[in-house]
Amino acid sequence: MLQIDQREALARYEQELVEEQRRRKERERELWERITAATPFDLTVRTDTHSNLDAPLRHAAAAIDLLTGARRQHPAGRALCEGITHTNLMALSEPVDAHATCHRCVHAAAVARPSDGPEPPTKKERQELERVEAGAVFTVEHPQGREIRDTSEQSRSPGGDYGRKVTAVMKRLHARGWVMSDAETTDSPWGGRGWRWNLTSLGAAALAIPAVPRWVEAAPSAPTAA
Ligand SMILES: [Zn+2]
Repeated sequence: MLQIDQREALARYEQELVEEQRRRKERERELWERITAATPFDLTVRTDTHSNLDAPLRHAAAAIDLLTGARRQHPAGRALCEGITHTNLMALSEPVDAHATCHRCVHAAAVARPSDGPEPPTKKERQELERVEAGAVFTVEHPQGREIRDTSEQSRSPGGDYGRKVTAVMKRLHARGWVMSDAETTDSPWGGRGWRWNLTSLGAAALAIPAVPRWVEAAPSAPTAA
């Protein structure tokens, strides 16, 4: 037989559990709303009609093919957590009016992009594109030859007072159609003249692709892993 104060403690504990569950649901719903507000494509929430759970997981699906990471494919109409490799595909329900609760679907939704869109730059490429955007990258001529330099940063290598050597990476970015150099020389930040590099419209679009999950950009606080 429980003592009175034990019963009170138990009741309070159960109340706290209910309250915690309610807060967790609220956080999940807010996160989902931030993600769907930020995605440039529509997402629907659907359950697995063959699920035996009392409260089946709610998955997310898009009407267009999506990609996450370098090349992970998420075909249109499938749950995002299934990707392309699953063989036993879920039988998804009609859209339900609720937020997604499958964490793998939520994560994929937050970072996915349309598969016919441009491939995002790597972290390193993104840094270089930002330098180009800032007008810091020039092709310069110096005693060692013609090179491409990031004039915002000096290096100790030969000609390093012109800036950090970025010839190889600029050639790669140029091959992807992201950067182009001026045909004429202009005054450069170090005082001499050089051929300035600029972003192409494709490069500007590549730089605009989110590098981090959209929820990080959209929200001051990170989501809680529940
Ligand atoms: Zn899922």
